[in-house]
Amino acid sequence: MSDMKKALVIGAGIAGLITARMLSDYYDEVCIIERDELPSEPANRQGVPQSFHPHRVLPRGGLILEHYFPGYNDELVALGAIPSQEEKVVIANRYGTLVNKANAASSFKIASSSRALLEWVLRQRVRNIDHISFLTNTEVTGLMASEDQRSITGVYTKERGRDHQEEMLAADMVIDAAGRSSKLNRWLGKIGLSVPEPEVLKVSLGYSTRYYKIPPSIQNNWATVITESDPAQGMRAGMLWRIENDIAGLLLFNAGGDEYPSTHPDEFQEQIKLLFASDDNIALIDQLEPFQGPRGYRISESVRQHFELMENWPSGLLVLGDAFCSFDPIHGQGMTVAAIEAETIGKCLDEQRMHLEPQFERQVLHRMQQAIEPAWWLSSVADLRWKGVVHIGHSRMKGVAFAQKYINLFNKQAMKKASHENNKHLFILQFLMNALILPPREFFKADVLNMILNDNGSEEELELRAELGVQDPERFQQRIDELLPSFQLEPDGRIKKLLESIQHALSK
Ligand SMILES: Cc1cc2nc3c(=O)[nH]c(=O)nc-3n(C[C@H](O)[C@H](O)[C@H](O)COP(=O)(O)OP(=O)(O)OC[C@H]3O[C@@H](n4cnc5c(N)ncnc54)[C@H](O)[C@@H]3O)c2cc1C
Repeated sequence: MSDMKKALVIGAGIAGLITARMLSDYYDEVCIIERDELPSEPANRQGVPQSFHPHRVLPRGGLILEHYFPGYNDELVALGAIPSQEEKVVIANRYGTLVNKANAASSFKIASSSRALLEWVLRQRVRNIDHISFLTNTEVTGLMASEDQRSITGVYTKERGRDHQEEMLAADMVIDAAGRSSKLNRWLGKIGLSVPEPEVLKVSLGYSTRYYKIPPSIQNNWATVITESDPAQGMRAGMLWRIENDIAGLLLFNAGGDEYPSTHPDEFQEQIKLLFASDDNIALIDQLEPFQGPRGYRISESVRQHFELMENWPSGLLVLGDAFCSFDPIHGQGMTVAAIEAETIGKCLDEQRMHLEPQFERQVLHRMQQAIEPAWWLSSVADLRWKGVVHIGHSRMKGVAFAQKYINLFNKQAMKKASHENNKHLFILQFLMNALILPPREFFKADVLNMILNDNGSEEELELRAELGVQDPERFQQRIDELLPSFQLEPDGRIKKLLESIQHALSK
């Protein structure tokens, strides 16, 4: 028996690629098993049907990707992706419109590209690592387990498209990164392990995306436009953005299962114009030349597995990405969360080198849960504003009604200060939290609350004061602590440094 350590990764999506790169620091051999044949150029593929739709990396994800794939963002730009520094961004919500020449994202290096191009760049990087191999056109069909079912010893695979027999592939570690279509629960069931009920957000969301050629005449007056949803009024979210090859995308989104955005070209165009109400935007949209779509995408549920609750979770098995927890894509969190999870596994493997932890895999799952809690909570709080969206879990999600009122009033103040007083402090604060950089507890704080509670008895302010149930500013913090989840996040030196430098810049 060789001492060489081998890891298998199921799926060559974004989670699989980051994971393989991370594992290459710890294993002598890493093999990615992918059911698709992988394209020899940037292209969408069957195994990731969502790749037609916009895919943005959040700044936290960008930081982690730069760590594992240094220079990946510059490479994307060299291949035609749009650097965030060059984007003029228009943000509209029920409280107004803000035009940002250099937007808050511009201090982070996040290029705008198609998902296919991003996946291509990461895949080529992974291909260049000697001890990582790809086994494509091959589907994983089950888990190999030791006789006592306490450890996973490899996987069963089948070559696709042929009636081949199942093959066995042995490994010291198997990581499932097979996305939303993962069969992990079924495979665990087959080896006699029962899986706890997952937490589910019944979200019933619909996307509709259409692509256009940008004619040279409007390339210089280009802006990215984001219109935020207003669920109380049943108003959709929309986005106009640019990717490589002079291509623009338009997206419509709503949740709650009511009247999904249309995929009929004329209706889509009408719905877009209704949302992008300003004359400038409409003039811009009118000059775009449609060439692909509109194409829809519907998701009934976001699912968060709770495998860490299994006392008999086997050794040699981990799971991450959408297979572990999937999100409403409008918040752009999925790839960033996958990066956070891969990084968490890496930290645990580092510690395992120093000190062998007997229930290592379960501990890792537990730490991944803690690391992704802010993302799950923030997107659930936002989605639960839509009528018809329901959370089902072991316990009630904490602080939802309070957070919704707080964010609503915050949005109003942020827009007022930014557009009338040119003070973008609040906007940046919220951007950083949604970017998964600022821990939510730093956003929901008494001093921030004090900044927004000066709205002279507006409806939003009265509602928030009633929810808080205290008038005394000194008791605010105590109430916030009671109302919100505790978010037990591990200290992260890189994030701490970054926040300090942003705070410093803001205080000038
Ligand atoms: C409409 C839409 C828009 C989105 N927009 C964004 C966005 O803007 N920003 C963002 O961060 N995230 C976005 N996401 C989420 C994002 O796609 C995922 O979170 C991210 O790709 C991580 O997923 P993954 O790698 O776990 O799964 P995937 O990317 O789905 O990859 C899974 C891979 O596993 C392979 N596979 C599956 N089963 C097997 C098997 N049995 N054997 C072998 N291979 C298998 C598949 O072929 C695929 O290659 C969006 C999602 C949707 C649906």
